[in-house]
Amino acid sequence: MIDVLISFDMFLVKISLVLQLFDGHNGSAAAIYTKENLLNNIIAAMPPDLNRDEWVAALPRALVAGFVKTDKDFQERARTSGTTVTFAVIEGLFITVASVGDSRCILESAEGDIYYLSADHRLECNVEERERITASGGEVGRLNTGGGAEIGPLRCWPGGLCLSRSIGDVDVGEYIVPVPYVKQIKLSTAGGRLVISSDGVWDAVSAEVALDCCRGMAAETAAAQIVKEAVQVKGLRDDTTCIVIDIVPPEKPTAPLPQPKKLGRGVFKSMFRRKSSESSSQIDKEYLEPDVVEELYEEGSAMLSERLDSKYPLCNMFKLFMCAVCQVEIKPDEGISVHAGSSDFGKLRPWDGPFLCLSCQEKKEAMEGKRPSGDRHNSDSD
Ligand SMILES: [Zn+2]
Repeated sequence: MIDVLISFDMFLVKISLVLQLFDGHNGSAAAIYTKENLLNNIIAAMPPDLNRDEWVAALPRALVAGFVKTDKDFQERARTSGTTVTFAVIEGLFITVASVGDSRCILESAEGDIYYLSADHRLECNVEERERITASGGEVGRLNTGGGAEIGPLRCWPGGLCLSRSIGDVDVGEYIVPVPYVKQIKLSTAGGRLVISSDGVWDAVSAEVALDCCRGMAAETAAAQIVKEAVQVKGLRDDTTCIVIDIVPPEKPTAPLPQPKKLGRGVFKSMFRRKSSESSSQIDKEYLEPDVVEELYEEGSAMLSERLDSKYPLCNMFKLFMCAVCQVEIKPDEGISVHAGSSDFGKLRPWDGPFLCLSCQEKKEAMEGKRPSGDRHNSDSD
C-alpha cells in the first residue's frame, strides 16, 4: 500500500490535538479526500455548547458519523481507491482513537502498561470481520493461481482487498465499511507515549520492540528510530510511517516520557473484544477516581444501529430532525429510525431516534448487505 499521509490539526473550540494517518490503496484519491474532509465532518457531527466532559463523551458517536459521511461523500465522487484511517484526538489526558484498516495505534502509559487503541481490520486475522462480510454477501478467500494453489493473505472478493474496513473502495463492495473501531482512555496525570504507524512498521516489529527501541528519546527522534528498526527487519518498504507523541501533563513539562519501564506490565487487551457502550457514563465520575489509567469506552461493531444509538447520557446528542450521519435537515415524516429493520426494532417505536435521511438509510442497508452493492450508482456505472 502506498500514499501514506499524515495530518496534525487543532480543534479550535477545545484546543485538542488531532493526529491522522491515512494509508491509501488503488490510488491516492481516497487518502487525499479523507485528509481534507474527515475532521470537518466529525466537528459537524458534534453537538454545540458542550462542556469538556460532555464533549469527550460525545466524541465516539461523532467519529462514527464523520467516518460514514466522509465515505459516502467520497463514493459519490470517485469510483476507485480506498484508505485506512487512524484518527486520534488528544484532549488533556483523554485520548480517543477511531480506526479503520490495518494501521495501528498503541499507547504506553507512564506506568509501563501498553494499550492497543486500534483494531486490526485485516481479513487474515479477524474472524468476526470475515463472518460479517460473508453474511453480507461478500466472499473471502485466497488468490488462486490455477490448479488449486492458493497464495497470499485472505482477501475479499470481488476486488481482492485484504482489509474489511476502509474509507472509499466503492468498487470493492459496500460491506467494506467505514464504521470505525473507537477506543477512549484517560491517562493518569503521569502521561504516556502514543505511537501511530502504518502496517509496514507493525509487520516488522511488535509494540514492545517499537517502544523499547526508542526509549528515552524525544518524540521526533523516536519516530525515526522506530522506522529505522522496522526497515532493518524487513528491508525498505514504502509504507513505514510513524508518528510519536508524548503526552506530558502541564505541571511536569520537562520529564521525558515514558519513564524507564517497570516489570510486570501486562495490559494486553484483545483488539477485537467488543464491549457495550455503557461505560461512557463513567466520565462523569472522573474527579472521584484515583490517579490511574482508565479505559472509558471501546466499541467495534459495524452496525450503525449499535453505534448511533440513543442510550446516551446527553439528551441533546442528536438534533431533532437532523440526519445522525450527514447532518442534513429531514422533514418529520422523512426520517427513518436508525433501528428500522434491526432485529430488536420490536422493542423500539418507529419514532425512536436517532434518525437517518433516506440516502444514509440506503447506505446503512448496503453496508449490512440488505441492498445490492452499488445500487445507487447504476445510472452512471461504466
Ligand atoms: Zn444522511
